[in-house]
Amino acid sequence: MFLGDIVSFKKQQKFRDEISLHPQWNRIYDEGHSYWNGALQDNRDRGNHAYFCPIGWKRHSLHVTDNFDGKFKGWCVCYHGTKFAYGLSILLSGLKSANAIEHGSGIYVSPSIIYVAHPRYSEIKRIESSDQEKFFKKGQYIQFVLQCRVHPDSIKTIAHETLDASKTTIDSNINNDVIEWVIGIKNNDIIDFNDPNAPIVCTGLMIRVTDNHPGLLAESQWWYESHLCNRGTDCCALGIDLEELKKQKEENKECNIIHA
Ligand SMILES: [Zn+2]
Repeated sequence: MFLGDIVSFKKQQKFRDEISLHPQWNRIYDEGHSYWNGALQDNRDRGNHAYFCPIGWKRHSLHVTDNFDGKFKGWCVCYHGTKFAYGLSILLSGLKSANAIEHGSGIYVSPSIIYVAHPRYSEIKRIESSDQEKFFKKGQYIQFVLQCRVHPDSIKTIAHETLDASKTTIDSNINNDVIEWVIGIKNNDIIDFNDPNAPIVCTGLMIRVTDNHPGLLAESQWWYESHLCNRGTDCCALGIDLEELKKQKEENKECNIIHA
């Protein structure tokens, strides 16, 4: 019987129907590509929170509306980290209200991509060698983060980091005390991205590919002064043994971003 295969094939078809890309808005964020220092000043209204360059990431833009500028005038950019197993289902069915309620119930996002790139939020995956050649040139590790827009009135709480990182600077653009936003949602516990009245909408898939473990990047050094463990997808999804990573860090092993 091939019923299982047929079912999973149908599921794949459904995925392709429902995720719509918008490649003309794909961007590489880095020096020599799309790049700016400090808050972006481009006369676009992104609400009362600044938009900083997500250096080292590539955005795969999702098609959410034909009237992007009109729909999102005054909406802020934020990020939501996710584990690979959940990423697609989030894109398809929306963001689920968090069960871990440090700052109250709701959807947790951050204005800092550096913060959500911590492996507690965004799984790090080693790319197997056969896939490496096919899809990612010579990249060895990949992470992804959802880029979202939220209406500022929907941010019900702005709060401090929750990764025991109070002794370090996570992101030089954003203070540790305002690095978590909780998005309030009414009645239901899942936000449907296809709902035109949703307070938060996923507008892009941010992907970072590196030639070595991203824990060796300069912007990841705060991890070693925060919570960091070896528990895997239950907690910090490092994609490498923590002791091995620390050894490579001691040896000053390099890590470079790969822009495909
Ligand atoms: Zn952990």
